Formats: sequence, structure tokens, C-alpha cells
Amino acid sequence: MRPSPLLFGLAAALAASPAPAHGYTLEGTSWPGGTLTVGYDPQHAPIDANAAIMLAIATWQAADPALHIAYLGNRPGDVTIDWGAVPAQADAAVTHLYPVGPVFVSATITLNTAMPWGYQTASYEAGVADLPSTLIHELGHALGLGHSTDPLAVMFPSLALGDRRRTLTVDDIAAIRAVYPPKPLADGLLFATHTPEVAR
Ligand SMILES: [Zn+2]
Repeated sequence: MRPSPLLFGLAAALAASPAPAHGYTLEGTSWPGGTLTVGYDPQHAPIDANAAIMLAIATWQAADPALHIAYLGNRPGDVTIDWGAVPAQADAAVTHLYPVGPVFVSATITLNTAMPWGYQTASYEAGVADLPSTLIHELGHALGLGHSTDPLAVMFPSLALGDRRRTLTVDDIAAIRAVYPPKPLADGLLFATHTPEVAR
């Protein structure tokens, strides 16, 4: 009997996290200033990853205003997404991180060309490996997140073939904001609005 295939491969050594109040773990490494570029190499691509990459970037970016991710398209970036074989054949992807001390120098996300990739239009589609779900998870690693024990979190370590998990949970958002803390807003400075007075 074949084991049910899992999409996510373990990407990095996980930080030890004794009895946390939250589910997430962090790698202890980050991009300086929360600033990085993401690009991809479409060679060997069985499916166009462009839309999935943009969705993954937008998903994390929307959760944390301290992140500044520029998408380069078909060019290598600080984080480069490519296609190939991965060490564990049942894994959908593997992320390699290249840190120097507490700072990332580069990262590579390799998507497994052997998976039945697709863009799921329903929450479950038998036999489809949802490319956006996978890229959101792997980009989380490339930003400095480890796995979460929250089974609904995008950073939960496994996702079954046919399932989709694209929405960040409170736990995912807390994790990314722990790595890249948003600046507190100064009242009336950043978002001052000048509403015209309306006669009534
Ligand atoms: Zn993972």
C-alpha cells in the first residue's frame, strides 16, 4: 500500500521551541531590512509558475508591511525558484537556505518536476499538487519561518495531494511579524486623512 503523498518536504533544520504559546517556529535568520528579490528559472517547468509566485509573494507581503519583496520574473533573485528533481521523490519541493550568521545571503526553492502540478480551483481536487499552496509554504521558509504545529497554518509541515492551503492563519501572520516587525504607526503621520466637511 502506497503512503499518501505529501507536498511539503522539510526544508531546514527547525529551531528548538520548548512549549511555545504559539504554533510557529523560526529559523533565526532573516533578510536585512526585510528587503529581498525573488526570481525564477522556467527551464524544465511543466507548468507556468508565474501567477503562483506572484500570489505567494503577495500573500506574505500583505501580512507584514515590514517586508519589501521585489519580483524579478525570469531572472535569478535573492530567492530563486527553479524546477528539478528533489532528494525525496515524494516531496513537492525543497528549499535550500544559505545564511551567513543571522542573515540570509540567498535561497533556492526547487519544485519537483515529477509532481502532478496544477492550480486548484476547489479546496479539494484529487491528484493535483496545488502550486500556489506549495510556493506560499516554501517562500515562508525562504523568509525565515520554520514549521508550525497549527494544522491550518500554511507553515504546517505537510499537505496532502489534492488539498489546498493558501490562506495565512493568525499563527502564520504572528510568525512573519516576529521576524520582520512592522513599525508602529505614528498617529496622524502615516495615514493622515483629510476628509472634507460635509454640510448637513
Ligand atoms: Zn516545510
